[in-house]
Amino acid sequence: MDTNSYRFGELSWPEAAKRLKEVDIVLFPVGSLEQHGPHLPLDTDAFDALHLAEQVVQSCSDPKPLVLPLLPYGVSYHHDDFPGTLSISNDTLSRLVYEIGMSVARSGVRKMVIINGHGGNTPALKYAAQMINRDAHIFTCVDTGETSDVDLAVLCETPNDVHAGEIETSTALASRPELVKLDKAKSFIPRFSSSYLDFSSKRSVDWYARTAKISPSGVLGDPSKASREKGEKMWEIMIRNLLEFVEHLKKLSLDEIYEKRY
Ligand SMILES: [Zn+2]
Repeated sequence: MDTNSYRFGELSWPEAAKRLKEVDIVLFPVGSLEQHGPHLPLDTDAFDALHLAEQVVQSCSDPKPLVLPLLPYGVSYHHDDFPGTLSISNDTLSRLVYEIGMSVARSGVRKMVIINGHGGNTPALKYAAQMINRDAHIFTCVDTGETSDVDLAVLCETPNDVHAGEIETSTALASRPELVKLDKAKSFIPRFSSSYLDFSSKRSVDWYARTAKISPSGVLGDPSKASREKGEKMWEIMIRNLLEFVEHLKKLSLDEIYEKRY
């Protein structure tokens, strides 16, 4: 009997051949393995990216998009001062994602949504997406939360809640409460020497810093404001928005994506 799994890696090759004729879109979760303060697991970003991809596809109309196996490592050199952080370079990440993208394009996939759980991966993933589009002419996009960030900001009480703070602790309390050590959580809300450096400002520049220079615990945000209820609400929003986007993409041919105007 054929499996009706949406997980790419669980299909046999004849099943993959059949499914790739029915659906031309894949989701590619990319994470990181890095410190998330003294209270959250190292694989928070990786788990979150995979969880989001799988929840979206489970709710998606048939034929369901396929979910590629998670890429669990990312660009995390800025957390290197904290033990447990394992990082790969921008070159390696972009090359790997580029080659996977080119390979899925050769398998007949026409649209690839990269679901990125970690901000540090963004430059490399955007570069890879551009190069895949250039060389394979398929639709490739990167979602590092853009589909929901404005909505989550409304729920979040803390400014500059960037890392292991209110948002990530809430989502972890909702999805893996057994791995959250709330008694060890330390709040650290960064203050900035210029408003143009402030992560939460709409006018800030992109800049890069080693986390240990800013926060001794590795936390940037306020985990004490986290709750399971908030986390459930956040997951609901993230899943709903991304699902809506994927449903739009499913219905659109490549020509329509490029030519339709709204
Ligand atoms: Zn994270």
